[in-house]
Amino acid sequence: MDNHDVARVLNEIGTLLELKGENPFRIRAYHNAARALENLEERLEDVLREGRLEEIEGIGQRIAKKITRLVATGRLPYYEKLKKSLPAGLIDLLKVPSLGPKKAALLYKKLNIKTTKELIAACREGMVATIRGFGEKTQKTLLNGLSKMNIYGKRRLWWDANELAKPILEALKKLKGVKKAEIAGSLRRKLETVGDVDFLVASPTSAPIIEWFTSQSFVAKVVVKGKKKATVRLKEGLQADLRIIPENQFAFALLYFTGSKAHNIKLRQRSLQMGFSLSEYGFEPIKKSRALLPKKRIEESAIYKALRLYPIPPELREDRGEIEFAEKRKIPRLIEEKDIRGLFHSHTADSDGHNSLEEMVRAAEEMRLEYIGISDHSKSSFQANGMNEKRLLEQIQRIHQLNRGKKYSTYIFSGLECDILKNGKLDFPDSLLKELDFVIIASHQFFKSSEKEMTARLVKAIENPRTTMVAHPTGRLLLQREPYSIDLPTIIDACIANGKIMELNAHPMRLDMDWRLWHKAAEKGLKCSINPDAHATEDLKYFRMGVSIARKGWLEKRHVINTQSLAAIKRTLKHTV
Ligand SMILES: [Zn+2]
Ligand SMILES: [Zn+2]
Repeated sequence: MDNHDVARVLNEIGTLLELKGENPFRIRAYHNAARALENLEERLEDVLREGRLEEIEGIGQRIAKKITRLVATGRLPYYEKLKKSLPAGLIDLLKVPSLGPKKAALLYKKLNIKTTKELIAACREGMVATIRGFGEKTQKTLLNGLSKMNIYGKRRLWWDANELAKPILEALKKLKGVKKAEIAGSLRRKLETVGDVDFLVASPTSAPIIEWFTSQSFVAKVVVKGKKKATVRLKEGLQADLRIIPENQFAFALLYFTGSKAHNIKLRQRSLQMGFSLSEYGFEPIKKSRALLPKKRIEESAIYKALRLYPIPPELREDRGEIEFAEKRKIPRLIEEKDIRGLFHSHTADSDGHNSLEEMVRAAEEMRLEYIGISDHSKSSFQANGMNEKRLLEQIQRIHQLNRGKKYSTYIFSGLECDILKNGKLDFPDSLLKELDFVIIASHQFFKSSEKEMTARLVKAIENPRTTMVAHPTGRLLLQREPYSIDLPTIIDACIANGKIMELNAHPMRLDMDWRLWHKAAEKGLKCSINPDAHATEDLKYFRMGVSIARKGWLEKRHVINTQSLAAIKRTLKHTV
């Protein structure tokens, strides 16, 4: 258990005591001790070993004993007993905005309210207003807060969270005294959804930075305002933490707060085997007693080097074999945004896109793309204004004309996002599909089919000689719709066996096929196309999200077909169509 783990337990003890209506001095003692640990600039373990715990301001004898026991055994019977003495849901009640422990304890005592559900019911029945000290106004505020909880608790799409975090980071970097500022956590690891945002700042002074952060217009509520740490609720509901760190510890803190937890544990174990301990504060030899903080500024890569590891990009830090690869210096050179030379899977106003064909091509040209693949929906996707034979042929003609006239420097491939029918056949006859440069096959219906049916249908469509690539293979919409049941390993094998390409749909809500499957699949020979699934010119930029996720899936330039030059991609498409 590190400083933060122990601080969390102490804070929770304080809250539990408050819920029980215990002595305010005792309650405060626990919260103070937690804060002292949060602000500690060295490892709790070292302090304990040297018997200096009680020297720390804010930690008394009784709590020191509990901390010692907790760190030594990983457990604290006092805390466990305390937790058991109250209904389990009660602590969740405290997540309701504007409901503190005192009021929660009263609600429990007077109305036996133990869960948010019971609280909603009691508010609606007007019971809460009858408790002394509550009244109509409080009842209304509580209901209001309860309705907001769904927004607060929710995870966000990486793209949306990043849009919120980027300007804050830029502003932090410009503040006086700030030497470095970075985003850590799952946002830095490019996880598809994130629960909160972590900002780290290296600076010799902290008060003005904390003051700035907690007083900005993007803040809806200040949750914690400490000396070196602040937690706020952003207007959009997302929680954001800011930590101020001495510059010589910055790389260590960045590594620690980037995670993942599993990755960090492996690093710490490795470090111990090598004779020193690794923490957010630095390295330190195990035998010597005093903390050995690095004197000079170092980068994260130097920490990996000290551990005799090849530096591991944040996207790979998920404990999925990256440490073993780094040990053998086999961390791949991951794909980068600049490697992308063209994009497939974009819609136009001919089906459900917002922009015309030429507007899409012009946007691609502005992005200096060598080629763009247009793929509107086919007729079975009538809800998306899918194209019939006539309209498709007409679009193919227009594309040929544009290419011949060389009006744009970006070459246009004519394609289709072709629906797979219930029997596994494609939405258009061979004779028509033959006219296209590429065909993306997609399931937009029959989501209720069994896994067996769904898989068989898709395999049949993959085996169709007209198929070039597979769109969004699971149909998932992150935070909205679960993937449909499908046997992806079988689909992957079918693609490889038939020389078909798998899409990495880069729409922030899809990111399908999932990054967890790409490393192995690509090793087996599956080729990837990073597709924006653009429905408007501004969606073309989603390819960046796709590159992030491809990196997370260990993909290199050679695995991704739209890193190829125009001449090369023409050859690739000839082979598959
Ligand atoms: Zn689609
Ligand atoms: Zn699409």
